[in-house]
Amino acid sequence: MRVTEKAPAKLNLSLDTPMRYIDGSPQWDMVMISADLADYVTVETHEHPATIKVYTDSGFLPNDQRNLAYQAAHILRSRFHRHEGVTIHIQKNIPVAAGLGGGSSDAAAVLRALNNIWELGLSLKELAEIALTIDSDVPYCVYSRLAHVTGHGEKIELLPDQPHYWAVIAKQQISVSTPQILRQIDYTRLSHLDNQHLIECLKDGDWKHAIEYMDNVLEPVTMSVYPEIKRLKDKMVSLGADVAHMSGTGPTVFAICHNESRAKRIQNSISGFCRDVHVVTLL
Ligand code: ATP
Repeated sequence: MRVTEKAPAKLNLSLDTPMRYIDGSPQWDMVMISADLADYVTVETHEHPATIKVYTDSGFLPNDQRNLAYQAAHILRSRFHRHEGVTIHIQKNIPVAAGLGGGSSDAAAVLRALNNIWELGLSLKELAEIALTIDSDVPYCVYSRLAHVTGHGEKIELLPDQPHYWAVIAKQQISVSTPQILRQIDYTRLSHLDNQHLIECLKDGDWKHAIEYMDNVLEPVTMSVYPEIKRLKDKMVSLGADVAHMSGTGPTVFAICHNESRAKRIQNSISGFCRDVHVVTLL
C-alpha cells in the first residue's frame, strides 16, 4: 500500500527558552504555526526487501539512518514489531537547515502514513509521544497546526484556527547550525517573552494585537553572527509587513501580511538579493 502525506514547514510565531534542562537541552516556550510550503512524502510498504529505503530529490540530504524520515519508520517498525520493508520518497520543497523544521515534518509525515498503512489506530497524541524520541519539533509537526508548544517539545496545546494570512518566507544563502546556536545562548542575557498574552489574543481571534506579542528571543544570538538576517527582517518591515521575525534558530525570516498583494510586493523587492523567497498562506 502506498500513501502520500503533505509535510508543511513550521514557523515560530514566538520562540522563548526559559531555561536549560540538566542534560543541557533547552526548555521551550513557543507558539508555532504551519505554512503552505510543503514537502511531499510518499510511503510504501512491501514484504521484500525488508529494509528501509529513503529517496529524495535533494542531492545533499542523507538517505540512511541520519534522515529523520528513516528514523520515524525505524521507530514505528520496532515499536509495533512489523517486519515489512518501507520505501520513502521525499519531494523536497522546504529549504534545508533553514529553521523551518523540514526534516521534522518529513518524519511526522512518515509516522502518520505508517499509522494509516498498518492500521495501528494511534491518535495524533500517541503519535506525538513517539515523535519526541526523534527530535523536539516532530511532535508539533504530527499536528502541523497553530499550537503552544512547551517542555522538550512534547507539551502541545492546540489553538483555534485563525483567519487566512499570507507569509513571505525568505532564506538567504547562509547555513546556520542549530546545535551551535543553542550552545551560544547565554541564559542570563535573554529577555523573556510573555507568550500568555499572545495565546490570549489568538484564543480571542484578535490577530491584530497578537502580532504585537510575536517575537523570537534567539534573534540577537543568531543575528550577532549573521547581521544580514537582521537587515532582511528590517527590510521586510520597512516594505510594509505586519510583522517579520526569524524562524527557529534561523536563518529564515518570515513576514506576515494581511493581503496577498502586499506579500507579493515584498517578495518582488527582496528577490534581487535573496533568491529563495516564497509567498504562501498560513495553515
Ligand atoms: P532544526 O531547527 O530542527 O535543525 P531545520 O528546519 O533548521 O531544523 P532541517 O531542514 O530539518 O532544518 O535540517 C536539519 C538537519 O537535519 C540537516 O542537517 C539535514 O541534513 C538533517 N536532515 C535529516 N533528515 C532530513 C530531512 N528529511 N529533510 C531535511 N533535513 C534532514
